[in-house]
Amino acid sequence: MLPSLGCQALTPAGGGVGRADWVRPSRARVRRIRDRLREMYGRPVNLPHRDPVAELVRTILSQATSDLNRDRAFNGLSEEFPDWEAVRDAPIARIELAIRPGGLSRQKAPRIKAALQEIGEEMDLAWLETAPREEAMGFLTSLSGVGRKTAACVQVFTWNLPEIPVDVHVHRIGGRLGLFRPNASSEEAHDELLALVDPEDSYEFHMNLIRHGRELCRPTPRCEACALRRMCSFGKSANYRHGGPATADGD
Ligand code: SF4
Repeated sequence: MLPSLGCQALTPAGGGVGRADWVRPSRARVRRIRDRLREMYGRPVNLPHRDPVAELVRTILSQATSDLNRDRAFNGLSEEFPDWEAVRDAPIARIELAIRPGGLSRQKAPRIKAALQEIGEEMDLAWLETAPREEAMGFLTSLSGVGRKTAACVQVFTWNLPEIPVDVHVHRIGGRLGLFRPNASSEEAHDELLALVDPEDSYEFHMNLIRHGRELCRPTPRCEACALRRMCSFGKSANYRHGGPATADGD
């Protein structure tokens, strides 16, 4: 049986802001945001599991679905195959059947097989832990079905390396709080967050933004209950009232 594992648009008012006109917030402001989030949600601790291949597959399975469906699909693989080599060498139809309980199996089965084939005969990704960041992220994002967010999840949850995966929650809240340009792509948002957040805070910041996105800063936010409101131009504006404007959601 495969080992089990226990990752994890936005636009407020303001429209487009050119890169040349964007003023990056100070680290002091980002630390104040960190502290408010910490008061609300505590200080999550990362427990890296050191299984990069499992994390890679798990994160592909998490794309565009819930944690529950991701876990259903991962468990299906674990029950069907003895190890990752067997998944890699299996017909796509068999992988698809195993992950079907998690949905989107027709898209994800070929992605998983291709990524496992591309990581090399030995399926050894231990080198990612100590490789230069650009090399590690470059390799991961060269794999089929792996973008920045998936690559960052692999690095965070496997080794506790300082990355901040930009999912829909992080993108929405970061834009509202002015951590990056309101019209920033997820790649630009990722670069900006890495430049702003102290490396030792990256896991905590990522996890607390996600929690905040699920609890209060939802597509239709509950700004009246949010401890960040005084430092949030979106929350101080009239935009959140009367339920709008909502933004797209879904992981
Ligand atoms: S004040 Fe509103 S928009 Fe700003 S972080 Fe809080 S919930 Fe989100």
